[in-house]
Amino acid sequence: MKLPAFRRRLLAWFDVRKRELPWRASRDPYRIWLSEVMLQQTRVAAVLPYYKRFLRLFPTVRALARAQQHAVLEAWAGLGYYSRARNLQRAAQEIVRRHRGKFPRTLDAALELPGVGRYTAAAVLSIAYGAPFAVLDGNVARVLARLGAVRGEVRAPARWRSLEAAAQHLLAPRAPGEWNQAMMELGATVCTPRAPACGDCPVAAYCRARALGLQEKVPAKRVKRSPENVLLAAAVLLDPQRRTLLVREQDGAAHELFSRMWQFPAVAAGRDAETALRRHMRDALGIETAHCLALPVARHAVTYRRVALLPFLFCVDELPSSRPADGGSGCCTALPLGEVERWPTSSATRKIARAALRGVARV
Ligand code: SF4
Repeated sequence: MKLPAFRRRLLAWFDVRKRELPWRASRDPYRIWLSEVMLQQTRVAAVLPYYKRFLRLFPTVRALARAQQHAVLEAWAGLGYYSRARNLQRAAQEIVRRHRGKFPRTLDAALELPGVGRYTAAAVLSIAYGAPFAVLDGNVARVLARLGAVRGEVRAPARWRSLEAAAQHLLAPRAPGEWNQAMMELGATVCTPRAPACGDCPVAAYCRARALGLQEKVPAKRVKRSPENVLLAAAVLLDPQRRTLLVREQDGAAHELFSRMWQFPAVAAGRDAETALRRHMRDALGIETAHCLALPVARHAVTYRRVALLPFLFCVDELPSSRPADGGSGCCTALPLGEVERWPTSSATRKIARAALRGVARV
């Protein structure tokens, strides 16, 4: 392969065809970093409104570092994978404390930040600072595997390492940031997982998979973990003022499924979900009530888990004593049921709240 010509073609294509995205209008490492974190596991269209709103609320690393975690999670609510938001803020605090508020310029220092792995570090350093580090994510790996007609699963450790080396070899040394974005853009818009648009591909002449007619077969499909079904019973308490109770549990499988955010009291349940939930309510909150109403089941999916959420409505005279939701100290808090959706909660909790609101309307 003639590398200079290959690079020229891809960069020229990117120059003309790249999508106009807000993070591409800036070389501010904070904005680039934020976009890369938000785009992990999330589509561009879903990220756009969050990105703009997040920057309005936290326009700088320092603003993010000093914000209440509660406010950061609230701005993230709905985007999922909340550990990203927690790590982002922890990393912002590290940047303020150890790097005078500037994203570090070296790979080693960047990799020490919470939540910053090789991909994110390479993306930020190359795009913001022009540092010569190639990115490798799923999109880029697919493009590289097809260019080289690499058989097998790209995520296999040895294969991933050889793709990292290939990505670094191809990197345009004078424009590493543009190059990385061009590779990602090609994977996202042309060399797509299914039905790659080889006719529109600027580097089709260099592609071995296409020459061999293997573009639909390379890379090999990932072996998926078989799905696991989970039943979760959740308690929606309701007092005469139509307030409900959210808790912040410290551990438990159920809590993982609520992204370690405010949630309704819940427990992983077997066949007799109501009994399991009553026991949990008694042991964890000291609540014993005679009547409850089963609400419509809500479905939820988290990676390989398929979760059936079984909400039960408990009408109580008084909610257990709660503390104000001050962003950190409370273990449970009372709020109007209709306001749960505006809180930093996972989408599972929102689904339960919606099911409860529908159920309450019928009571
Ligand atoms: Fe991907 Fe087709 Fe281009 Fe090869 S020719 S890199 S398979 S889009």
